[in-house]
Amino acid sequence: MSSRYRLGSRRRTKIVCTLGPASSTAATIGTLVRTGMDCARLNFSHGTPDEHFRLIEEVRRASRVTGRRVAVMQDLPGPKLRVGKLRGGSLQITKGSSVSLTTKPASSDSSMIPIQSKDLPKYVKVDGTIFLSDGAIKLKIFDTTETDIRCRCEIGGTLLSEKGINIPDLKHGFKTFTQRDKRYLALGLEHGVDFVAVSFVRTAGDIEEVGAFIRGKKKGKPMIVAKIEKKEAVDNIDQIIEATDVVMVARGDMGVENPIEEVPELQKSIISKCRSKGVPVITATQMLESMVDNARPTRAEVTDVANAIFDGTDAVMLSEETAVGRYPVECVQVMNSVALKAEEMMLDGETIGRLDSSQREGPADALSEAAYRVSLDIGANVIAVQSEDETILPRISRFRPRAPILFASVSEEKLRKSKIIWGVYQMEAREAGDYGSSAELVQHLADNFVREGESVVVIRGGAESANEPAFSLSVLTASGKTSRV
Ligand code: PEP
Repeated sequence: MSSRYRLGSRRRTKIVCTLGPASSTAATIGTLVRTGMDCARLNFSHGTPDEHFRLIEEVRRASRVTGRRVAVMQDLPGPKLRVGKLRGGSLQITKGSSVSLTTKPASSDSSMIPIQSKDLPKYVKVDGTIFLSDGAIKLKIFDTTETDIRCRCEIGGTLLSEKGINIPDLKHGFKTFTQRDKRYLALGLEHGVDFVAVSFVRTAGDIEEVGAFIRGKKKGKPMIVAKIEKKEAVDNIDQIIEATDVVMVARGDMGVENPIEEVPELQKSIISKCRSKGVPVITATQMLESMVDNARPTRAEVTDVANAIFDGTDAVMLSEETAVGRYPVECVQVMNSVALKAEEMMLDGETIGRLDSSQREGPADALSEAAYRVSLDIGANVIAVQSEDETILPRISRFRPRAPILFASVSEEKLRKSKIIWGVYQMEAREAGDYGSSAELVQHLADNFVREGESVVVIRGGAESANEPAFSLSVLTASGKTSRV
């Protein structure tokens, strides 16, 4: 069936799915693409690069077969501290017991937990807190030696090999963008990833370093996603938003590195700051966690997904749910239906999720607001954007217009990168100069997306050319009658 008339009834919030053992077959990836995966995330903290690159090939194959565009995100491990290999694979740690994190090799002493970082004992402080296993186990430090960090267990649990270590107050010399990240990213660039997510960002300088690395390579121009998880990133959020292309509210590590009760406020304030700057934002982790084992989500999870959408997130992300869970496809179906319902409320409501006005810093900001207001006033059916400056897209989207935003471009890469922006859909221009005028563009829309007589707000231009006006905004009807504003 043609896409005619159906754009406005499609889901606007984008879905990012992490691929892993539960979603590694061609059949499952194909079903995820058909069900609504907009972006596939490859978590390089687990598995081998070759395994991830095979999955990327499967995603591309499924995309070709289904005719649905899917973006690819490479998520770098960063300087994540990890427990080493435990004898027997696991260790039960009980409340009140003494345990040591040690740089010495694994021994038969069950109170000794091997760690991978040789330098860690010299950075930690007595009375500091250490969390293991995503915060499930809590330890208090009472002594350190050159090789050992001696702790008392305050909250016990079962520790598995290679689980993460979080030390919220750690002031250390570890680089955010590690040597391993550089190796992985160089490979990711060769494989043409659309986004690269940087873990444990602390400052805008970390993002600039990754940007410089990318510019120094011949191939690949992914957008940079700053994962906000550390307290230092929260403290430097304004500068990080300025420096990055996309932000991820990475609630997993965020809820261990910061007091967990601060996560809701951080989510709201980070999303709000991103919207005021027109920077797309992804909300991540534990959104449908119980669906790792169950076919249905909890009420609390469904409410969490809807609230992230009301907060103004562009995309929602699935992690373990699709990577290792039993119901990867059902998770996407749930995300899809919850998003559609939340959007209906948003678009019908007066205030939820709507931005009243934005910070205006240049023509693109002024124009994005004008496009939104005109589309609202005339009840436009589509906002069509044909521009070399794709940063206009999230700037329009942040107002949450009812009219779908249709991005026309000859660049398949730009079209894929726009796949994480709320309410943005893609239309391929077959060659440069296609839709050479607004009327031609609308004529094409009339063939595909709007009925005769319906109105379209068109934004064109945006390329930097010598003293020419950067953008134009026009209102056209599908019959071709134009009124310039
Ligand atoms: C997170 O911590 O929320 C996150 C997205 O990062 P990762 O899954 O790499 O731990």
